Amino acid sequence: MKIVVLKFGGTSVGSIERIKKVVKIINSYHKKRYKIIVVSSAMSGVTNDLISKSKEISENFLSSEYDVLVSSGEQVACSLIAARLSHIGLKSRSWLSWQIPIITNSTHKNAKILSIYKKKILDYLKVGGIPIVAGFQGIDINSRITTIGRGGSDASAIMLSKFFEAEKCIIYTDVEGVYTTDPNKLKKAKKIKVISYEEMLEMASLGAKVMQPVSIQDARLNRINIEVKSSFKNKPGTLITKRKNIVNNKIIAGISSTQNDAKVTLVGVKDKPGVAAMIFKPLSKNLINVDMVVQNISANGKETDLTFTIKADDLNKTKKIIEANKNIKFRKLLLKKDVSKVSIIGVGMVTTPGVTFRMFQSLAKKNINIQVISTSEIKISVIIDKSKTKKALIALHKEFKLDN
Ligand code: ASP
Ligand code: MG
Repeated sequence: MKIVVLKFGGTSVGSIERIKKVVKIINSYHKKRYKIIVVSSAMSGVTNDLISKSKEISENFLSSEYDVLVSSGEQVACSLIAARLSHIGLKSRSWLSWQIPIITNSTHKNAKILSIYKKKILDYLKVGGIPIVAGFQGIDINSRITTIGRGGSDASAIMLSKFFEAEKCIIYTDVEGVYTTDPNKLKKAKKIKVISYEEMLEMASLGAKVMQPVSIQDARLNRINIEVKSSFKNKPGTLITKRKNIVNNKIIAGISSTQNDAKVTLVGVKDKPGVAAMIFKPLSKNLINVDMVVQNISANGKETDLTFTIKADDLNKTKKIIEANKNIKFRKLLLKKDVSKVSIIGVGMVTTPGVTFRMFQSLAKKNINIQVISTSEIKISVIIDKSKTKKALIALHKEFKLDN
């Protein structure tokens, strides 16, 4: 059976007009004789709205009931799609997770899909039906409704592709694909034709909002090729696949930048075993996400400077926590808002020497001061002054030949 999984995001099903458009897309695959499994997200705004309702009821809304509530948006979208397909003469029906079923663990709000029963859907496909599966939801072994994390219908689509061994998994969204950098920030951003899972994972984690990061990890583990494309324009999108499938001469696949980071420096910290842990423990307890960390070697063996970055929104809270921390001694606390993290991402840097140098040099040429650096196998990130972000993007985009 030639199966294709088509996933439609919230904006793609955001209005009745758009749902009619989506149905035309589904029909085009039907005409090509594909067996189609559709996964839909809720109409845009609906999930957010349900979440704010839950907050009005209680700040401690039961997480099991939260899942019942927020998963309801998908039900609406699925029935609208199925009914419209049937309106144009195709056989279609909606499938909620419990009807299939899609089994998850019991971690409400953030469950993981464990297995998907295939029989009923396969039978339905065989008689020519087009199942419209509610994304984002599952049930646990106690038949309680679960949800799999914000943006989770991506993961639903990936796991359906895995269990049904789909030939293709296409993620329809409101952008044309994945770009070398945010096209809203840089006009010269180019659509990427093919990108590896690893690069995509870094880009998504750094804020490219095209896909939910965990779903990319699921796709990577299961070797599922994903195509990301627009449901508004009929144009080729971006293929996310394994490195081996990519014949590409670009060292860097993309550049990302953040907007609201802040930098915290503890000057003259007493250098003894366990200080770093002492500093970060209360932060993590308070759910403050620490991003980059650098510690200088202490010149005199007694004191060191420690710098880390957080989200700017967490700055005041962090300040309070550090000042209240009796377990650490330091001379001065420096706080700086208005910094931004600029990262270059590319598997090419593993085998190409000199990438770090080229990045630093092109920033230096533009008189951009680097405040913090961190690297991983396929990524180099720097913290710079927020006002220089655009300049940095332009320079790096050009340096790594992404302009053309
Ligand atoms: N509707 C859910 C959300 O907004 C799931 C999704 O969009 O993928 O998070
Ligand atoms: Mg969504």
